Amino acid sequence: MSEEKRKLSKKQRALGLLRVAKITYKAAPGAVFIKFIGTLINAILPIVTTYFAALTTTALAEAYSGDTTAGGRAITYVIITAALGVAMTAWSSLENYLNQYVRYKINAAVSDRLYEQFLSLDFWRYDDKHTADIYDKAKQFANFFGYIFDSLASIFTSFITLLAGLIALLFVSWWLGLILVAAVIPGIVIQFKLSRAQTKHWNENVETRRALNMIEWNMFVIDKIAELRVYGVVRHLLDLRMKLRDKDEKERISFERKYIGKQLGADVIEAAAEVTALLYTTLQIIAHAQPIGQFLYVQQVVSRAMGGARSFVSQINSIDSDIANLFDYQEFMDLPTGASRTTKLHRQPRLITLDEVSFHYPGSKTLVLDDVSLKIERNQHIAIVGENGAGKTTLIKIILGLYSPIKGKVLLDEHDLAQVDMASWHSYLGVLQQDFVKYSFASAKDNILMGNVSVPMNQEHFEAALDRAEARTFLEKLPKGLDSFVNQWMEHNDGTSGVDLSGGQWQRLALARNFYRDSPVIILDEPTSAIDALAESRIFKHLFAEKNRTVITISHRLTTVERADVIYMMEAGKIVEQGTHKELVAKKGAYHHMFESQLRESEK
Ligand code: ADP
Repeated sequence: MSEEKRKLSKKQRALGLLRVAKITYKAAPGAVFIKFIGTLINAILPIVTTYFAALTTTALAEAYSGDTTAGGRAITYVIITAALGVAMTAWSSLENYLNQYVRYKINAAVSDRLYEQFLSLDFWRYDDKHTADIYDKAKQFANFFGYIFDSLASIFTSFITLLAGLIALLFVSWWLGLILVAAVIPGIVIQFKLSRAQTKHWNENVETRRALNMIEWNMFVIDKIAELRVYGVVRHLLDLRMKLRDKDEKERISFERKYIGKQLGADVIEAAAEVTALLYTTLQIIAHAQPIGQFLYVQQVVSRAMGGARSFVSQINSIDSDIANLFDYQEFMDLPTGASRTTKLHRQPRLITLDEVSFHYPGSKTLVLDDVSLKIERNQHIAIVGENGAGKTTLIKIILGLYSPIKGKVLLDEHDLAQVDMASWHSYLGVLQQDFVKYSFASAKDNILMGNVSVPMNQEHFEAALDRAEARTFLEKLPKGLDSFVNQWMEHNDGTSGVDLSGGQWQRLALARNFYRDSPVIILDEPTSAIDALAESRIFKHLFAEKNRTVITISHRLTTVERADVIYMMEAGKIVEQGTHKELVAKKGAYHHMFESQLRESEK
C-alpha cells in the first residue's frame, strides 16, 4: 500500500479515537459510562484534595500566629482532606476491577467479530496479499483493543488533568497559567514528531516483520526442524532472522536516540517554568499578597498539570500506531462477505456441471483451468488424473465454490454456484485434501468426530468409518486407544504422553473423519498417497462399491483410478481425454502414456 494512504491526518486520528470509543460503547455501554465518570474523578479529585490540604496549611499557619478561630478551621479541613484521601483509595480499588471487566468485555466483543468476519470472507481472499496484510494488522488491533481503550481513557484523564490544573492556576494568577502553557508546548511538539516517525517506520516495515514472524513461528517448529537441519539451513535462517530483526528494531531505536537531546531540552523548559511559578508564589506569600497554603497548592497543581501534559503526549504517541491499525481493522471488517449468495440448496444436486470454465489465481495471469467442461451425475464415481500442476486440485476448488471461474459457470442442477449459499452446498460434501487439518490438541476419536459436529456422536457411523478407512487396528493399539492424544506434546491426566502418527496413519485418521461425515458427495484429493498400495486399493474397492454416493477423486494409482465410472485426464488446465479405463487404454493416448509403467506392472 502506498505511503500516502498510510499517513494519518490529525482529523483521521481524532476520528479514529472517536471510533474506538464508539466500538467500545457498543460492546459494554455501562462499563464505559462508569469509566468515563472514573476518568473525571481521577483528574479532579486530587486537585480538590490538594485545595483542602492547602487550606489546612493556611489555617495552621494562622493558628500558629495567634488566630484563635483558625484551629477549628484547620481540624475541619484535615477531616475533609482525609475523607477525600479515603475516597481516592476506595476509588482506585474499584477502578482496578472496572478496568479488568471493561478490558474483558471489549476484547471478547472485538475478537469475536473479527473471527466471524474472517470465516465469512470469500475464499480467494485467503490467497490475497492485501487481505493478509490488513488481517494481520486487524488481529493485532483486536488483541490489544481493551488496552487501546484504556489508553484512550488515560488520554482523556491526562487531558482533563492538564485542563483542570490550568483552570486551578488561573484562579491564582492568569500568567501562571500562561507560563504553564508555554512550558508544555515544546514537549508536545517533540513527542508528536517522534510518534509520526515511528508510525512511518512501522508501516514501512510490515514486510520485514512478516518475514521475521514466518521464520520464527513457521520455520522453527518441531515438525519442520528435522528437514531444516538435514538441509543445513538453520544457521542461514538464524542469520536472516537476525538481519530482519536488526533492520526493524535498530531503526526504531535510532529514532528514539535522535530525540533524546530535544526531549531533554523540553524537560529543562518545563523545569524552569515550574521553578518560576514557585518563585513567583513564594514572593507573593512573603509580600503577604497570598495565604501561605498557596505554595503547596501551586506546587501540586503545576506538577500535576505538567504530569498530565507529559502523559497525554506519551499516550497519544503510543496509541498512534494502534489507530493506524484501527483503520486496517475497519477496512478488514468492511470487506464484502458472501452475503450475496442467497440461493439455499434444499436437496443434493442431481447434476454438477462445469460449463466452459476458465480460471487463473488472483495476482497471476496464467490460466490454470482453460475452458473446462464436464458433468458429474449423482452417484457417479469420477477420477481426475494428470501430471503435477495440471490443475486437478484447482478444478476441485472450483467445484467446492472456494474460487469462482473468471469465465464460464459451475451449475448445481439449475443453480449457478456463484449464487449458492456456501454452507448449504458444503453440507452435502465431505472433502479430504492433501494438506488436511490435524487437530493436534484433540484425541484420535475427537479427530474423527470433527467430521460431523452438527449432530451428537453416531456410534454406528463411527465404527463403520474406522473400518472403512482401515484405521481401527493401529488406533486401538495406541497407549490410550482411541482416546489417545495424537500429538506428542499433549499429556493425559495420568502422565501418559500423546503419540505422533506417521504420514500414512494420519491419512487413515483423516479418511476416517471424512467417512464419518457420511456425506452424499465425497471429494478426495490424493488422500492415500502415504498409504500402501494394497490398503488404498481395498479402501477404494469398498468406496466404489457404494452406489449411493458421488465420489470425485484425484489419484496417481492405477488400481484406484481404473475403478471409476469416468476418468478425466488433465494437461495444462485442459481436459484432454475422458472415458472409462478401458476406453482410455484402448485410445493409447495421454492416459495410456501416463500409466504405462503401472499398466505393465498390473499385467505381470
Ligand atoms: P495439480 O493438482 O494438478 O497438481 P494445481 O491445481 O494444484 O495442480 O495447480 C495448478 C497450477 O496452479 C500450478 O501451476 C500451481 O502453481 C498454480 N497454483 C495452485 N495454487 C495456487 C495459488 N493459491 N495461487 C497461485 N497459483 C496457484
